[in-house]
Amino acid sequence: MKNIHSNINKAKKYLENNNVIAIPTETVYGLAANAYSSNAVKKIFNLKKRPKSNPLIVHYSNLSGLRKDCLLNNTFFKLYKKFCPGPITFVLKLKKNSKISKYVTNNSQTLAIRFPKQKILKNLLNLLNYPLAAPSANISTRLSAVRASDVKEEFGKKINYILDGGKSKVGIESTIISLTKSPKILRLGGLEVSKIEKVLKKKIKIDINPSKKVAPGQSKLHYSPGIPIRMKVTKPKKNEAYILLKKRRIYSPHYYYLTQNNNLKEAAKNLYSCLRKIKNKKYKSIAIEKISNIGLGKSINDRLSRASKY
Ligand code: AMP
Ligand code: MG
Repeated sequence: MKNIHSNINKAKKYLENNNVIAIPTETVYGLAANAYSSNAVKKIFNLKKRPKSNPLIVHYSNLSGLRKDCLLNNTFFKLYKKFCPGPITFVLKLKKNSKISKYVTNNSQTLAIRFPKQKILKNLLNLLNYPLAAPSANISTRLSAVRASDVKEEFGKKINYILDGGKSKVGIESTIISLTKSPKILRLGGLEVSKIEKVLKKKIKIDINPSKKVAPGQSKLHYSPGIPIRMKVTKPKKNEAYILLKKRRIYSPHYYYLTQNNNLKEAAKNLYSCLRKIKNKKYKSIAIEKISNIGLGKSINDRLSRASKY
């Protein structure tokens, strides 16, 4: 416990000096900086090799912080009450007098925001008088990080400090919903769309592959381990890593399991670490069995299909 407090204080010091640090969240690890400081935010883009046109998600600990920066509406409050903190990101209208750096939004008048649930991160946010801009802690288009060691693997010594919060519990990125006009899903993620529809009592438009991109998580190549992935495979090739949803009795050194029992939540949690493990074993290609396209299965299939555009 004492260690956690001193780590959180260390993280705070780095942030106060306009540094970028890695933070744990329940979705995936993030690369965080003071969202009000252009100097700090610019460093995130350089580290990630991220195009400046790709805006960042800003993380808040409470509503009063958010009210300073965004215009809030009834739909937001309905979803906030039910799902926050948690794996849902809202795109909202930015207030004219907001202090958010223009580098966060790429000069646009909308802002993507989230209330993370991860305890250590919440404790850190509570100590700060600014929100944290934080995209996923990976080099652009590559696999996201779900453990402190993954972040180290991605960035080595280029990153000043990694706040270790254990393995991310959700394991895939947040679901993004735009509320600037009528609600629209921009990215599938850790919260099932059906749960959002239940609260809003209506079907929501899903716009995850638009001709004009608004969220680069929508881009065709993303989340990639850097080797080809084949989906819906019933018979893997010789020496190919084969990912299966559920543990089988037959043994093969090339079989990798996402779950013990077919649970899609567990599969999402283990997805990136499984892909990373296979990548590090220097396989030349990955085959994955069919994953049913329901609930979180849809988010998993979305990530795999973008990762397979290698
Ligand atoms: P990541 O950087 O991996 O955390 O992903 C953040 C996602 O949020 C990216 O796909 C961004 O494009 C998206 N995003 C951030 N700000 C906005 C915004 N104002 N409007 C739409 N999407 C956004
Ligand atoms: Mg990302």
